[in-house]
Amino acid sequence: MKVVGITGGIGSGKTTVAQVFASMSISVFNSDAQGRRVLDNDMAVIAAVKKLLGEEVYLPEGRADRKAIASKVFADPVLLESLNAIIHPAVKRSTEAWVMALPAGTAYCLKEAAILFESGAASQCDHLIAVRADDAIRIQRIMDRDGVSHAEVEARMKSQWAQEKVAALSDYVVDNSGERSLIQQVVRIHRLLSSQGQ
Ligand code: ADP
Repeated sequence: MKVVGITGGIGSGKTTVAQVFASMSISVFNSDAQGRRVLDNDMAVIAAVKKLLGEEVYLPEGRADRKAIASKVFADPVLLESLNAIIHPAVKRSTEAWVMALPAGTAYCLKEAAILFESGAASQCDHLIAVRADDAIRIQRIMDRDGVSHAEVEARMKSQWAQEKVAALSDYVVDNSGERSLIQQVVRIHRLLSSQGQ
């Protein structure tokens, strides 16, 4: 079973592109959603995050206060790195268990992650897909999707690697600026990945 990493900066459309693969029956592991789950439920992760960022980043009912966490870590790269170092090993373990449970005979599955390279998870993937879009389009999409300000989107973009760097390290690049058909690009990559054996 080949694990294909799919990544892209915030607003590039990586989730949208992963959904196109999923519509073709490809199994997709969403690392960011799993990261949120471990942040809320994994006792060892919760203890480590409280130690790093303070008890106040958890709400009284026990869930992580994502806004409080974001405001701390996106203003401080060292804290962000420390937070990722807590969450990433737990997400890695979940990914491995998920891949093991997939039916045999599947050519490949996708591991979707916003920071695949930054977290080091790219080295555990057999192939890599980068999704890109022009920065102005990304900012507008996230402002529309999340109701956040231009400055907030920019701060998050700055915490991620430049698109050019991610694209240069990837095997395939999907351009999601709206000029090229997403479906055609995805189908082409799907054919190439499916024909590469297991
Ligand atoms: P990411 O996972 O990279 O942050 P998403 O896939 O969530 O990005 O896309 C960000 C927003 O932009 C979403 O609201 C999505 O519906 C929208 N979007 C993504 N791709 C396109 C596209 N090609 N055309 C129009 N809207 C798009």
